[in-house]
Amino acid sequence: MASEFELIQKYFQSTDLPDHVTLGVGDDAALLNMPEGHQLVVTVDTLIEGVHFPANTSPEDIGHKTLAVNLSDLAAMGASPRWVTLALSLPSADERWVANFARGFMGLAQKHDVSLVGGDTTRGALSITVQAMGWVNNAMSLLRSAASEGDDIYVSGTIGDAGLALQMLSGQGAIPASLLRALNRPEPRIDLGMALNGIANACIDVSDGLIADLGHILEASEVGADLSLESVPYSSSLRQWLDAGNDATLPMTWGDDYELLFTASPEQASAIQDLSARLGLPLTRIGKITGQSGLRIFTPEGEITNVAGTGYDHFGNHA
Ligand code: ADP
Ligand code: MG
Repeated sequence: MASEFELIQKYFQSTDLPDHVTLGVGDDAALLNMPEGHQLVVTVDTLIEGVHFPANTSPEDIGHKTLAVNLSDLAAMGASPRWVTLALSLPSADERWVANFARGFMGLAQKHDVSLVGGDTTRGALSITVQAMGWVNNAMSLLRSAASEGDDIYVSGTIGDAGLALQMLSGQGAIPASLLRALNRPEPRIDLGMALNGIANACIDVSDGLIADLGHILEASEVGADLSLESVPYSSSLRQWLDAGNDATLPMTWGDDYELLFTASPEQASAIQDLSARLGLPLTRIGKITGQSGLRIFTPEGEITNVAGTGYDHFGNHA
């Protein structure tokens, strides 16, 4: 059986290093180069089997998703992703597992020109920590605290597909492929995040659920929001699920969407339309930032006062 070190060399060491990596995997630490006039953007996330992904998730999907959730955080800052480090805790040096994990991880890394520059490998319960680093122009960065009264609120893609897949996994029926893809293969919205520099004000990626993550913007920006429930972009599979009599606010509480939620001045509406066309990605206006604190959700019949059974009417009143 290969040693852990051999496995790393075989599957994670890349010989072809870009200019901004002087030294990657193989020494005691990596040496990285930042261009002038830019700030380093750093984020880290841990994924644990049974908590962040179901125990029967394929290693390739795990590899993709652990990197995707981190790149999604960089996207929400408007950053260009550049480098990642990977701390792997594995129950055994299972080469087949590592090979498949690396296929998912390195595949997504190559797609976004991200270099794996180091990490750590230990024996233990399956847990994967990824630190992602990138850069953003000194003058730029999309902050949660930058929403202003009168901004439009937008979200990319569709909401709730990953959460619906997770629900369906505990049932009997077949799960539509598009939902499984949303759960296991989320696409970090890197190009969108970078393009939103200069267009958007506040931005966040939707990992905890649209309502919770919008709540983070509202809190950091000290503003409120009115959402139109009809406008929230749901896929046809999700709409089918709603047609069975389910609560239309629930998918906004599931999370794991990895879409970008952002606010922008109404003057940016046509720039946002153009961006949506250029990226081939729906960017849907779902509401407005208000000066009143808290989140209100409206249907054509009026305000919803009992969202997803939380019992809370206005969301400004709780964490
Ligand atoms: P050290 O004892 O100095 O921490 P390690 O034996 O842990 O060194 O790692 C040797 C080299 O392999 C280092 O460059 C480290 O960054 C890299 N490395 C270890 N594990 C991983 C991993 N899972 N992914 C990428 N690089 C790794
Ligand atoms: Mg080490």
